[in-house]
Amino acid sequence: MSLQEKVAAITGSGSGMGRQTARLFAERGADVLVVDIDEAAAAETVELIEADGTPGSAAAATADVSDPGDVEAFVERAVAEFGSLDVLHNNAGIAQESTPVTDVEIETWDRIQSINLKSAFLGAKYAVPHLRESDGGVILNTASTAAIRPRDGLSAYVASKGGMVALTKGLAYELAGDGIRVNAICPVATDTDMLPEFAAGDLTMDTFEESIPLGRLATPDDIAKAAAFLASDDAAMITGSALEVDGGRDI
Ligand code: NAD
Repeated sequence: MSLQEKVAAITGSGSGMGRQTARLFAERGADVLVVDIDEAAAAETVELIEADGTPGSAAAATADVSDPGDVEAFVERAVAEFGSLDVLHNNAGIAQESTPVTDVEIETWDRIQSINLKSAFLGAKYAVPHLRESDGGVILNTASTAAIRPRDGLSAYVASKGGMVALTKGLAYELAGDGIRVNAICPVATDTDMLPEFAAGDLTMDTFEESIPLGRLATPDDIAKAAAFLASDDAAMITGSALEVDGGRDI
């Protein structure tokens, strides 16, 4: 599953599964643009990759993925820095604290859709011209098992991730003629800084673990390995899929 000679931009790679994915991509030979709204976090991921001594190199870019100008800028930065763009990984996202739908603020709904879903549209809008130039462009979108098997009080988050799966399938169909593969990853509850942010009321950290048949949370590495596979030429015939990395949660 080599990623040699590929250039990848990974959003939200200043933390959690995005950071681990950036490290694994570089280990497998990709040059990686580490994109995050948190400048220091992105820089720290680049430092970790440099310390890993990977064959692939890394650079950091600060961007808010819900801002069209920022997205266009990080896409152009990847091409300027590394000469091309082969993989766009729309991974950045935010949680929703479990809340009854009647209490969800309108601003909260809009913010979650902007960061979790509009971001992937913006990424495609600006990256596709470059991905068309690649010998096998790839878009990866981080959705969630929440899109398939929702949990209590996550209406805005669930809708954003369901939209991500639908957008993935729509783009996969639209871009197949350009040789661009588009897939989603649906992680189950994963041990990152984000996970406790969902918990409130009846939705507790215990609930997450107990509901996963394999008996543990996912790790960032579980998710990174799935992303590395989907980004690689080993997945050349896979497009429009939403791969559940879920320890059986969605059975
Ligand atoms: P995390 O909080 O560890 O990392 C998210 C990163 O995204 C952070 O570095 C943050 O600074 C960045 N970010 C947030 N808003 C941004 C913005 N507007 N622009 C650019 N960067 C921004 O979380 P994680 O668990 O690694 O989540 C990664 C993705 O996985 C998200 O899309 C999340 O919804 C999804 N997911 C998480 C879980 C889980 O249980 N952790 C499960 C399923 C799906």
